[in-house]
Amino acid sequence: MKKILIIVATLFIANNVVAQKPNIVFVLVDDLGYGDLGYTGATDIPTPNIDALANQGTKFTSAYAVHPFCGPSRMGLITGRYPHEFGGQFNLADQASVTEGIPVNERMMSNMLQDAGYRTGLVGKWHLGDESQYHPNNRGFDDFYGFLYGGHKFFPAEYKAAYNGPNSWVYNHPLEHNGITVTDDDEYLTDELSHQGVRFINESVAANKPFFLFMSYNAPHTPLEAKTEDKNVAIIKDIANADRREYAAMVYAVDRGVKELVDALKAKNVYNNTLIIFMSDNGGRSDKGANNGVLSGNKGNTLEGGFRVPMFFHWPNNVPAGVNYDYPVTALDFYPTFAKLANATIQPNKDLDGLDIWSNVVAGTNARGNNEIIMSIRHDNASNRVGIRRGDWKAYRFNNNQNWKLFNITNDISETTDLSSSNPTILQELKVAGANLTKEFVEPLWFHATNATTAWSTNGMPNFEATFGEALNLDDENVFVNSKLLMYPNPVKDTLSFTFQNAKSSFIDVTIYNLQGKVIQQQKNINQDKNGQFKLKLFSGIPNGVYMTNVKNGNENFKYKVVISNK
Ligand code: CA
Repeated sequence: MKKILIIVATLFIANNVVAQKPNIVFVLVDDLGYGDLGYTGATDIPTPNIDALANQGTKFTSAYAVHPFCGPSRMGLITGRYPHEFGGQFNLADQASVTEGIPVNERMMSNMLQDAGYRTGLVGKWHLGDESQYHPNNRGFDDFYGFLYGGHKFFPAEYKAAYNGPNSWVYNHPLEHNGITVTDDDEYLTDELSHQGVRFINESVAANKPFFLFMSYNAPHTPLEAKTEDKNVAIIKDIANADRREYAAMVYAVDRGVKELVDALKAKNVYNNTLIIFMSDNGGRSDKGANNGVLSGNKGNTLEGGFRVPMFFHWPNNVPAGVNYDYPVTALDFYPTFAKLANATIQPNKDLDGLDIWSNVVAGTNARGNNEIIMSIRHDNASNRVGIRRGDWKAYRFNNNQNWKLFNITNDISETTDLSSSNPTILQELKVAGANLTKEFVEPLWFHATNATTAWSTNGMPNFEATFGEALNLDDENVFVNSKLLMYPNPVKDTLSFTFQNAKSSFIDVTIYNLQGKVIQQQKNINQDKNGQFKLKLFSGIPNGVYMTNVKNGNENFKYKVVISNK
């Protein structure tokens, strides 16, 4: 009986969707652990307002942030692309007057929604560039109230007293509203932001436009700073660990803010036409009071605790209520999904890595076929941390120094049992899919710190070859033989020469890739010359550097690293 009712409800919903452009209130919290809401299992943090919305909406149990830390996670969310594809794989340096930002030709969801007639607002944290061309007001937000950097102190009296000019720690910089320094902020920051969210809702309703509110709370990101009264509420005051108590009170303040937003929507009679989304930008830090519940790992790594996050959708009569959606989804999916809901136009040349998941969420069906992956890849100093989810499976590599592992993540959410040796084919498929994604990646446009810049070049990063091995350029007949082929010179200036011990064919095909797997030069049917050698003249203009060369002779493939040094 229950099943039938659900089906009827689903049909009702499916027929009624997208009749009107919904308002979108996207509540993004910062570094919240998977287990840190009442509805996700927290027994020491009261979040009644968030829980009520979650329970009246659809709760996603396998929602993934794009990256296990802030900047790239947000870049992925707002552009709909893996940030590695436009050079955003690191945080922007957390200092004033950082000169970089997401390339201006990279359209954001705010641009798209603005063009579709939405009034767009960002409240809180940006962290995606502070120069004029990268400022939120120039990236599709009509209204911006908040701060441009990766975090902020919470008490105005403290951050105002600590601020002593543009070279101050950016966490102490004044808040701004559309480029104008704010001076009348006198509330605890989370409360200040909540009230600004309410202001934006009220103004948007008055303007009689659909609106997109990106409510970007910096809580419960460090510094751990909570109001005394929040630390003294029931349950929280009994928490023994001081960091956990501070953290819990910060989450409690967000819950109060969510209630204020909901109350404003109801007061303006737009609650029923507003899609509310709640999620965290990455996993929690257990060393800073967070609890990732059943998940292993933390912010920064690619175990589930690094990038699987709490998330729900709420929209009365449009989003199924009181159900879980267990299929994997990613923050990359918001861009195309919002485009659908807003009846917005996606520019024809816009690259997107996610999917419009709307009809699947409404129907409770899997938005991804069995072949589509969700990947998180984080560069370490000299290595890569990787998590690749596909269906029930998760391939995981802590870094290049440890072996790949494979988990059945549906049965083993805590990633305790490595099944790679009994399922080598599945692991290989996931590695190949992940390796193929990296072929779209480009060099970073910035690093968060000078030593990271140095480490990148010193360690020959991104070093995907070490991470993915033969999966990086796998083809069906690829074999690795080192003693049969002589390739010289190396480094090479302008011409590669090959000599075989026993050539299978008098022709070879040569492909040269960069370390991201992008084909730089390819030539087929190179003839053996009278000395028994095969020669390939390199295109001029190939930058100096390390490349991979695949030489195909008959049905054998030979792979060599080559250094091109032509200048
Ligand atoms: Ca974060």
